[in-house]
Amino acid sequence: MTSKIYDTVIIGGGPAGCTAALYAVRAGLDTLMIEKFSAGGQMTQTRQIDNYPGFPEGVDGFTLGDLMQKGAERFGCGVLRAEVLSVGLRTDPKRIVTDSGEVLSRTVILATGADHRHLGIAGEEALIGRGVGYCAACDGMLYRGKVVAVVGGGNSAAADALLLSKLCRKVYLIHRRDSLRAARVYHEPLRNTENIEFRFNRQVKELLSDGKLTGVVLTGGEEEETLPLDGLFISIGRSPVTSLFRGQLPLSEDGYLIADETTRTPIGGVFAVGDVRTKTVRQIVTAAADGAVAVHYAEEYLAGT
Ligand SMILES: Cc1cc2nc3c(=O)[nH]c(=O)nc-3n(C[C@H](O)[C@H](O)[C@H](O)COP(=O)(O)OP(=O)(O)OC[C@H]3O[C@@H](n4cnc5c(N)ncnc54)[C@H](O)[C@@H]3O)c2cc1C
Repeated sequence: MTSKIYDTVIIGGGPAGCTAALYAVRAGLDTLMIEKFSAGGQMTQTRQIDNYPGFPEGVDGFTLGDLMQKGAERFGCGVLRAEVLSVGLRTDPKRIVTDSGEVLSRTVILATGADHRHLGIAGEEALIGRGVGYCAACDGMLYRGKVVAVVGGGNSAAADALLLSKLCRKVYLIHRRDSLRAARVYHEPLRNTENIEFRFNRQVKELLSDGKLTGVVLTGGEEEETLPLDGLFISIGRSPVTSLFRGQLPLSEDGYLIADETTRTPIGGVFAVGDVRTKTVRQIVTAAADGAVAVHYAEEYLAGT
């Protein structure tokens, strides 16, 4: 690539990255956003987003991602479709090595997001959005009156099961151990909810489908059990995408880049935004907000204040 030095390079084109890109170009910064897939990040995995303001009928994630990228491009943001392979954050300028060459920049905004941990069983990826989901708060409404299962035993699985029990006819809670890891505060409500049924010491062995999910096969009991289902929510944790930054930036115990509401990291000119950073609520609206905040501090850094 060239020896051009950008004011800011954004790694990741989800809502955090696209918003950072929009704010950066509007602030007059020479900006490049690098995304390995199409824009939108995790949003592209859902067909119906109902809790991002401005869309009274909801919006599908792919469309929203595309709109976000176009909004940044309208003001002149460059977009590079490439995978970032390594970064040198302490050098001046900072170096970003992609599978399409090297890029130099005075500041870097890290927006690589987080992936929901997957079960890793056959058919799972193909059934995402077709009965398999990872976010009950986002997609639960699609299963009103239906039969669903939640896999997991922690707080988010417990919260998901309770949330879904208010919408769905029946909710199975499948956990591979004999008791939940979730905080005690969840146990009684779960036990007292009539339409929640536990499947302890069970694991999902197989996903059944006819193009969309129709059920699961469970192992762990004396005999295998087939549960007919309309939906399966996998709630076994998230994995932040931070391997590129290991050894350069501190990570929290659960692997997130440590940054507060300013999005600043311990390295000057390096910012962490969206789901990749330590925070309480990981949603589109909070990711987008981070993007705007990061650019404020990037401008401050570039101005030497
Ligand atoms: C199925 C599903 C449904 C959801 N529904 C909702 C909802 O209805 N409402 C809501 O508010 N939230 C929802 N969420 C959560 C929301 O999508 C996330 O909180 C949000 O996308 C986080 O944005 P982000 O930009 O921080 O990261 P991400 O969206 O994860 O984007 C990160 C981007 O970085 C890119 N990237 C990573 N590594 C590299 C690399 N090395 N090189 C180049 N690019 C890279 C990825 O390809 C990705 O596009 C949902 C999530 C899922 C999975």
